[in-house]
Amino acid sequence: MDYLPVFLKLRGQRVLLVGGGTVAARKAELLCAAGARLRVVAPERCAELAALCERVGAEYLATAFAPGHLQGVVLAIAATDRPEINAQVSAAGRAANIWVNGVDDLQASSCLMPAIVDRAPVMVAIGTGGTSPTLARRLRAQIEALLPERLGELARLAGAWRARLHVALPRADERQRFWDNFFDSALAQGLLTGALDADGAGAGLERQLEGARALEPGTAARGTVWLIGAGPGDPDLLTLRAQQLLQQCDVVFYDRLVPPAVLARLRRDVERVFVGKEPGRHRTTQARIHELLIEHARRGRRVVRLKGGDPLVFARGGEELSALSQAGIPVVVVPGVTAALGAAAAVGIPLTHRGVAQSVCFVTAMGEGAAALDWRALAAPLQTVVFYMGASQLPQIVARLVQHGAPPERHAALVEHATLPDQRLIAGRLADIAARAAAAAVGAPALLIVGDVAQFAGQSGSGAKQVVDESSD
Ligand code: SAH
Repeated sequence: MDYLPVFLKLRGQRVLLVGGGTVAARKAELLCAAGARLRVVAPERCAELAALCERVGAEYLATAFAPGHLQGVVLAIAATDRPEINAQVSAAGRAANIWVNGVDDLQASSCLMPAIVDRAPVMVAIGTGGTSPTLARRLRAQIEALLPERLGELARLAGAWRARLHVALPRADERQRFWDNFFDSALAQGLLTGALDADGAGAGLERQLEGARALEPGTAARGTVWLIGAGPGDPDLLTLRAQQLLQQCDVVFYDRLVPPAVLARLRRDVERVFVGKEPGRHRTTQARIHELLIEHARRGRRVVRLKGGDPLVFARGGEELSALSQAGIPVVVVPGVTAALGAAAAVGIPLTHRGVAQSVCFVTAMGEGAAALDWRALAAPLQTVVFYMGASQLPQIVARLVQHGAPPERHAALVEHATLPDQRLIAGRLADIAARAAAAAVGAPALLIVGDVAQFAGQSGSGAKQVVDESSD
C-alpha cells in the first residue's frame, strides 16, 4: 500500500491554495465545503475564484508563491499549470513538514485527493495511487449509482441514536444485531426512499428499540419482502433501487421472465429459488409462493420476490401484497420497466403520438377473461392497445378487433424478446400480422402493439435488432 486513506478535519484550519485558474476555483469550492480557512496565492485569479474568495472571506495574496506563505498552514494545494511552481510548493512543503497536493501532478504531491461520492456524513473516497484519474471517475460513477441518494439521512439518524443505544443495549453484539436489523428494515428503506422523514423513522426506531429490549437475546427481528420489478429483460433496465436490493437480500424467488443476465446482478451467495412455470414441471402455485415468502420473512430473512417487467402489471403482485400484509410481513414494492414500455423503446414505437394515438391501454386477452373485454372500445381509433400474453391468441385477437370495427389496414407490431439480444420485430397490419407471426414462428414472451403508431416501428436506431420484412408479397 503506497497511500493510506484518511479523512481530514479541516474546519477552521488554514489551507494554502496556489493558483488562480478554474482548476484552483474547483479545489477552493471543495476546501470551503470542508470548512477550511483559505489563503489563495496567485498573481491573477479568474472571476469564479474571485467571487468565491469574496463570498467566504478568504485571504488573497496577488503575488507569486513564496515559502513564507506556508506559515500557519496544515495543507497546501498546488493548482497551477506550471510544474516548476508546483515543484517549489512541494519542496517548501516538504521542508516545513506540510502535506502538499499537486493537482494532476503526482511528482509534486505528498498526498492525493480522491474522487469522492458525497452522501455526507457518509463519504466514499476513491484513489488509484495516481495511476488513472479516469478509472477513479468511472468507479465513482458506479458507486454513485449503488448508493441511495438519502444515505446521509440514515447515517445522521444512526448517529443521533448512537449514545442512547449504548445505554439501552449495553452488549456490543446486541447493538450490532439491532443496527443490522434496522438497516434492513422497511423503516430504513422508507427513509431512504423518502416515504418517511427523519421524525417518522426516529419514532419507528424507538419502537424497534422497545421491541429489541423485549426480545430474548438471539431472536432475529422479522424480515421484509421486497416485491421488485426486473424490467423487460435487459439488465441495464433494472432500477438503481432494484440493483441495490439485489446486492443486499438473502433469498430471491423469481420466475421465468427473469433472464440469467438479471440474476447475474445478484450478490454471489444469495439463495435463488425458481417459482415459475417450466415445461414438463409443475408450476409452483400462487398460494405456495405466498407461503414461501411468509415463511422466509418470518425467519428474519431479507426476501426478494423478483418479477419480469413491473410487479404490479399482469404479475399477480396485488395478491402477493395482500397475502403478505395479512400475515403482518412488511413489504416494499420496487417498480420496474413494464414490457410495453421496454418494447416500445426498443423498436421506436411512440405509444402516444399527436394525431395518431391520444391514449394507450395495456390489456391481456388470455383465457376466459377475453370475452369480457370491451372489444368495441379496444377497436376504436386514435389509441394504442398493447396486448400482453397475446402471442398465442393472435388470430382470435385480430378477428375480434376487426369484428368490432377496427380497419384491417390498421398498423400492428409484434415484439418478441423485447430488449434481449435475440429481440425480433414483426411489423404489419391487422390483416396480415397473424400470418406474418406464424411464418416467423414467434414464441414467448412477445407483445402485440395495435394502433397506427406501429407504422413507426423500426425507425429508431435504439435497437430494433431484427426487422422481419414488411414488404408485401
Ligand atoms: N409484469 C410483466 C408482465 C408479465 S405478463 C410486465 O410488467 O412486463 C407476461 C407477458 O409480458 C408476456 O406474455 C409478454 O406478453 C410480456 N412480456 C414480458 N417480457 C417481455 C419481453 N421481454 N418481450 C416481449 N414481451 C414481454
